[in-house]
Amino acid sequence: MAALGTPFGQMSVAQLQAGLAAKEFSCHEVAAATLDVIEEADAPLHAFLEVTRDAALAAADALDARVDADAFAQAGALAGVPVGYKDNMNLVGTHTTCASNMLESYVSPYTATCVAKTLQAGAVPVGKLNMDEFAFGSSTETSAFGPTLNPWDATRVPGGSSGGSAAAVAAGLVPVALGSDTGGSIRQPASFCGVVGVKPTYGMVSRYGVVAFGSSLDQVGPFARTVEDAALALNAICGHDPLDCTSQPCSVDFTANLSEGVKGMKVGIIPAFMEAEGLSAEVKAKVEEAAAKLEAAGAELREVELPNAKAAISAYYVLGPCEAFSNLARFDSVRYGYSDPGHKDLGSQYEASRAKGFGLEARRRIMLGSYLLSAGVYEQYYYPAQQVRTLITEDYMKAFDQVDCLLAPAAPRTAFKFGEMAEPAEMYLSDMFTISINIAGNGGMSMPVGLGAESGLPVGVQLMGPAFKDENMLRVAAELERIYGPAPVAPGFKAGE
Ligand code: GLN
Repeated sequence: MAALGTPFGQMSVAQLQAGLAAKEFSCHEVAAATLDVIEEADAPLHAFLEVTRDAALAAADALDARVDADAFAQAGALAGVPVGYKDNMNLVGTHTTCASNMLESYVSPYTATCVAKTLQAGAVPVGKLNMDEFAFGSSTETSAFGPTLNPWDATRVPGGSSGGSAAAVAAGLVPVALGSDTGGSIRQPASFCGVVGVKPTYGMVSRYGVVAFGSSLDQVGPFARTVEDAALALNAICGHDPLDCTSQPCSVDFTANLSEGVKGMKVGIIPAFMEAEGLSAEVKAKVEEAAAKLEAAGAELREVELPNAKAAISAYYVLGPCEAFSNLARFDSVRYGYSDPGHKDLGSQYEASRAKGFGLEARRRIMLGSYLLSAGVYEQYYYPAQQVRTLITEDYMKAFDQVDCLLAPAAPRTAFKFGEMAEPAEMYLSDMFTISINIAGNGGMSMPVGLGAESGLPVGVQLMGPAFKDENMLRVAAELERIYGPAPVAPGFKAGE
């Protein structure tokens, strides 16, 4: 059992930057070693869909040239750090496939703002990461190019839809990766792979250049093995972008309060979440343990009700497919996407191209969204789902009048086996604790708290904060990290085991 990662990929951002500043190694050396290991070691893991060697080496060399001239500190928060990007984010000149046959040959004509911001902060872009097709799923099994394995156990899924991002960080291939979260796709894989995963408040990170799933729900965020690394990545990617009118200015330094501790903070527990059917005993025990440890560290625990959160999954599986149906209409084989050859009329070309280009789950969401938005049906489902959305948002606003942060399970259980969730509705329940936060728009994150007593696999607890006060949950996360220790690199597995 050997870990897959590189010595560099296993370092924290601070460790890497200390070595770079002291000229123990150059950015080029870090990039080249990282790329080599990804190309070799990622074959069994399959976290990466594309290794962007040229872009990485160009960025690293430019940085080495610059760093010689100025002080390293001026080179940016992520200077010299190898970063991977979920494959729904455009990086000019690289493929952006969304793990779909529909976009297999699509080459990014420009760079997404969130990616560009990491590059401005000095990141070295090493590749594009596997995901559920168009981010539909909770296991990365719907990728048209084959699943990613969980670095802790090759027989299990890494979670999803940002499974490649979570696995790459957990395996020590990169210290930081970006993912996106529409209903839990950062937090659930972070929990399954034992890494930190942050979904910021909606509007904190520009969605420009990120292939849309549910435009009112999607949010980009970082994966890292330490809270500080995640905070540094947030510092780089947050902020207003004139190209995304929902993005907001941000002047917070997310590293600023990490050492303050939780004394005097009010942390809310949601009894209905703790009693939910489907929550495994080992995850429940970990949430209770984390709550007790936070209390011992000086936090005040309070019970908080979210009376409408039980309707979140139902509302999400109306709103999400409706938005997905609308967003995926552009993949019409003419403007974008796979074009099936040999059709004489446009109708049959559309039909064949979309039938072959999209996988089963994508087609299911499109059909569902199309039905839900049709005349007569719209009023019965879409309207009430929007009303439920308002109620859930109000629940969270009331909750955050009482507490600074909420503590809950991230996922109901630890990583499941490939093929275990055969029924779509069963898979949809993977996000039972994460979806309501996307509906309300607040920030949420998964924080690793060790291994489950029964499965021996990583467990994440979820922290949630008031809108645009994501520093609260990071502060609590930093306390949990002091208690539980930083997330270890996954012990690794042998190919084929
Ligand atoms: N698992 C949820 C879904 O399938 C959430 C996906 C996401 O957050 N992108 O829709």
